[in-house]
Amino acid sequence: MKKIFSFVLFLILNNQIFAKEVWVSVGSDLVSKSEKNFKSAFRENQNFGDITILKIEEEFLPFLSKFAHQDFHRCGGFIYHDSKEDALKLVTDLESQDFAKKFSFVDYQISHQDMVNPMIESVDALRIAANIRTMAAFQNRYYTAPTGVQSQAWVKATWEKLAAGRSDATVSYFKHPNWSQPSVILKIQGKSNEIIVVGGHADSISGYFGGAAARAPGADDNASGISSITEIIRILMEHSYQPEKTLMFMAYSAEEVGLRGSKEIATQMKSQNAPVIGVMQFDMTNFKGSDNSIVLMTDYTNEAQNNFVGKLIDTYVKVKWGQDKCGYACSDHASWHMNGYPASMPFEAQMSEMNHQIHTPNDTISHSGDNADHASKFARLGLSYIIELDQ
Ligand SMILES: [Zn+2]
Repeated sequence: MKKIFSFVLFLILNNQIFAKEVWVSVGSDLVSKSEKNFKSAFRENQNFGDITILKIEEEFLPFLSKFAHQDFHRCGGFIYHDSKEDALKLVTDLESQDFAKKFSFVDYQISHQDMVNPMIESVDALRIAANIRTMAAFQNRYYTAPTGVQSQAWVKATWEKLAAGRSDATVSYFKHPNWSQPSVILKIQGKSNEIIVVGGHADSISGYFGGAAARAPGADDNASGISSITEIIRILMEHSYQPEKTLMFMAYSAEEVGLRGSKEIATQMKSQNAPVIGVMQFDMTNFKGSDNSIVLMTDYTNEAQNNFVGKLIDTYVKVKWGQDKCGYACSDHASWHMNGYPASMPFEAQMSEMNHQIHTPNDTISHSGDNADHASKFARLGLSYIIELDQ
């Protein structure tokens, strides 16, 4: 297998048809380990401590993605940049990142048990499982595939149905000019313009050759996160919850190819000075690989908000939780963090014990016991996060 892989890589790297070169930023750990295999693919690189920016051929991206996933257990693993300037800006904008890491906008309090408890009791694992199955039934949800567009139309229609009759709620596409799959955003306008974001990526990918035809059910990665979010929306609507702050739920496009969907959204919101006070990312919520049911990523996230999320787990979800690091650009929270917004990433397991079927045709719900019991915990956590941060 390795021989075939090297041979194909050799063909790709030496084929002048694939001349388009792009910029990405990756963890420097990934670069030092990858050098012996892939060095010839790097046209240019510059190191900035923990982060390195690379110029590579576009066709190399699926290999980079697979490598980041397989050897570093990162779902994304790199950030795609339109230009060298964009890559340099992001990695050198340390002030923003420092701010996102340390600064707390919010006086984090837990004092609304009366509101949160009835809502978290409404979480229905059967509904979450049904939505995971529907999303996994698309051939794939790849960012350039017709089925990747159709699956987002399904997410949009599902969220619209849940929000029907609410004049304060709108569901819309966020269109990305360079590829076909849109992101989907449900906005519930609150009394205040301050924004709380809960999101996850809706695209899926499979194997070295990924692409628009491969079977990529992506049940855990990340139909599970989107289905946890959909259950949060359903319950807020069922309880006729009227938010104080503005809530935004996001199903990002194109995470698997360099966090491209969330990066465009977060960058645009920053350029408009959108007052986002907190971001929660759900990427893989349904595989219970560890004794700790929920694992909070401590890198590229906000420490004060993470402490708050830990307390929410103790108060409301009442499961064992731990901490880990998932490395540079492992998922969409990094897009927000890089833009200076406080983000958290509650994950399904310790990194070494996560679901190893992801990015293969075997990422199905049967690998999670054919139920969504684990993803339900994340729906409870998300509900408690929204209400306590909102009130
Ligand atoms: Zn993922």
